[in-house]
Amino acid sequence: MNQMQTERRDFLRKAVVGAMGLTLEGANKGSATASGSIRIEEPFHGAVLNRRHGKQIDDGLEIQVSGRAPLRDRVTVNGTPAQRAGAGFTAKVILHQKETDIIALSQGSSGRHEHRVRVVWDKHSYPRYRFSIDDNSFFLRDIAKQNYPSLFDCFYLKGLRELHSKYGAKFVLNIYYTTEDGFELPQFPDRYKGEWKDNSDWLKLAFHAYANKPDRPYQYAPASQLIADLDQVAEQIRRFAGEPSYSPPTVIHWGMVQPAALKPLYERGVRVLSGYFRRSSTGWDVNYLFDDIRSEYLSRHDALMDFDSGIVFSRVDIVCNSTPVERIVPTLEPCAQDPNQAEIMDLFTHEQYFWPFYSHYLPDHFERLDVAIRWVTEHGYKPVFFHEGFLGGPQ
Ligand SMILES: [Zn+2]
Repeated sequence: MNQMQTERRDFLRKAVVGAMGLTLEGANKGSATASGSIRIEEPFHGAVLNRRHGKQIDDGLEIQVSGRAPLRDRVTVNGTPAQRAGAGFTAKVILHQKETDIIALSQGSSGRHEHRVRVVWDKHSYPRYRFSIDDNSFFLRDIAKQNYPSLFDCFYLKGLRELHSKYGAKFVLNIYYTTEDGFELPQFPDRYKGEWKDNSDWLKLAFHAYANKPDRPYQYAPASQLIADLDQVAEQIRRFAGEPSYSPPTVIHWGMVQPAALKPLYERGVRVLSGYFRRSSTGWDVNYLFDDIRSEYLSRHDALMDFDSGIVFSRVDIVCNSTPVERIVPTLEPCAQDPNQAEIMDLFTHEQYFWPFYSHYLPDHFERLDVAIRWVTEHGYKPVFFHEGFLGGPQ
């Protein structure tokens, strides 16, 4: 290297730094907060991470943290210097606990700034599925009316039991208090209690709503109304089916509740709530009124912890009643190939489509369930109940 080259390089370096300084100053004038800010972009606050999201190291999971910070600042993540590339930074963090705070700290001419997120490590995770059926009431009315010798003389429960026998499938049935034509849960006899108990390892009942109508009954209702309805249904489930068959709510009708209802739901044993977290013409919907950022995240991830309430939110992967038989596998397959959606299959449908008297009766409804459950079974997914352990897996 000769003298002229060195001089030229020094000149270029100064020119670049000078240009950067000008740019940063310009940015500072326009938006002091933005230029002084540091932001962790990955992982997301509340992310539920498993072995698919990092590298198993001894007794921990090593994950990559990435984000953005002012170009000139020194950045540390949980005390360790981060690597910089432009305005970006990356660092490795090893998770050892169920929950870990990740703190990114930037220090520079505009002072110290930090951004922290908390993540959950699903340490003992394994591929699993949960099958949940919403809007149940007709089968209870049928059994009470027909006074069958066995619960499974009702074709609906019989069909579910066949899927259990074939694949080991487990079901949680989310029920109403009334069918609104005179039938209410107190009319359901307790003479099947023994049968409920004998099948409680795979068949559970949970509160869903007071009735099918109105739509979105808890979207704007006070928490006290939701909890009162829940308690009424829970009391009836315990009376006629017994404690082993009882599950805390897993889906609230229409997947919409007031944020203030989440803590009271947690106090009633709710640990996981499922929703669609789908985009509609007016915004995000069936999303428990989550903000757009969390709704969008959930629309492409299995789960998200809401630390304020302690409830994990799960995205429904398939709605069998709106997925034709030939679309079942093409709906599930991409989920299984995406590390962010592959671990937990949240399978779902609605009771009314099983009944021939229903206006939108689906003669192939059981076939749809069979195809979905067969596919997850053949791909190594184990049946679970979300209210047990952590998202159905070991704590
Ligand atoms: Zn519903």
